[in-house]
Amino acid sequence: MNKQVYLDNAATTSVRQEVLNEMIPYFTNIYGNSNSLHSFGREACAGVDNARDIVAKAINAERNEIYFTSGGTESNNWALKGVAYANAKKGKHIISTKIEHHSVLETLGQLEREGFEVTYLDVDDEGLVDIAQLLHEIRKDTILVSIMSVNNEVGTIQHIKTIGQLCKEHNIYFHTDAVQAMGTIKFDVKDMNIDLMSMSSHKIHGPKGVGALYVKKNVPIAKFMLGGEQEFNRRGGTTNVPAVVGFGKALQLTEEELDFNNKKLTEISSYFTKKVEYMIPDVKVNGCLTQKSPAIVNISFKYVEGESILMMLDMQGIAVSTGSACASGSLSKSHVLKAMGLSHADINGAIRFSFSTDITKNDVDYVVEKLEAIVKRLREMSPLTKRNKKGEK
Ligand SMILES: *Cc1c(COP(=O)(O)O)cnc(C)c1O
Repeated sequence: MNKQVYLDNAATTSVRQEVLNEMIPYFTNIYGNSNSLHSFGREACAGVDNARDIVAKAINAERNEIYFTSGGTESNNWALKGVAYANAKKGKHIISTKIEHHSVLETLGQLEREGFEVTYLDVDDEGLVDIAQLLHEIRKDTILVSIMSVNNEVGTIQHIKTIGQLCKEHNIYFHTDAVQAMGTIKFDVKDMNIDLMSMSSHKIHGPKGVGALYVKKNVPIAKFMLGGEQEFNRRGGTTNVPAVVGFGKALQLTEEELDFNNKKLTEISSYFTKKVEYMIPDVKVNGCLTQKSPAIVNISFKYVEGESILMMLDMQGIAVSTGSACASGSLSKSHVLKAMGLSHADINGAIRFSFSTDITKNDVDYVVEKLEAIVKRLREMSPLTKRNKKGEK
């Protein structure tokens, strides 16, 4: 069988064995409804409580500030709509960025159609928000700032603590989509002045379809799901107990291993980047080199289509992505690379490689070998290879 290398960990990750082991009893023996008052329910509830404590402790929040949701998308939808609706009397202006995840951008789009006003901050060529521009855009009627911690396409890490401080000084709520940042950054919501924070389980080797929203005490937020008293009467619906338990375990492991994993990921992803730059001509590494997630490497291969590379790598058992996973089904080009000012050609030829700690140098050697051959072949075939006539490199 062909070797398989999975380099799409920013789209989703495998569930760790320890996580699965933790979940299994909650499918079999401990199947009660965590809201029931009898012993079956109480036992399930204990699993949920334990997971809530883990999440709270991981980000230095209180346990009653953690609300379990169906994942990052729901948490983002809820944070933005919830704060907007609950604070509309105070003001209707929101500040975000051009490089957010679609679950943020599309929610903001709906709020705009409902009469809210949204300012989308630019980013520089490394994907960083300009703090001076943020300051400049703050108005009397600004109620919320939403800026992601780590970008899912290029891995750039924003100056979250500075932004939090600024929002606090101006009495504006600060939400951050931290889905891609768990396991990369050590969060302290008190120290960083974060009021709302979205998390997801399946990006950190937990099960899919579960995540959390942190909402600081006393932040006014509208309910999201009506019809149940779960999640402190704010998000109704019978709790997915095994998933919540698995999320807790995954986050616990991620936090314990944070420094070690960052070091390991930095080693393997920079080995990969250097090797690609050495072996393949005409490439451009996108994003910030100093302030980035070591799990994400985004590279433009000039004169070729990213989709062609993706499909040919897939035939060799190698999984990568062009831009974001959501966009890869369609042909819509990356809004993130566009905001960073990349040329049309560089956007077209961009591939995201996202690592987990189980990727070895051996895997990387295999990937770069295949990648080199594929890019070479595509460039020979491609009409885009006009460069050859000038003999430039
Ligand atoms: C994956 C992702 C989401 C969506 O999370 P789901 O749990 O898949 O809904 C949101 N934001 C970012 C930055 C992501 O990478």
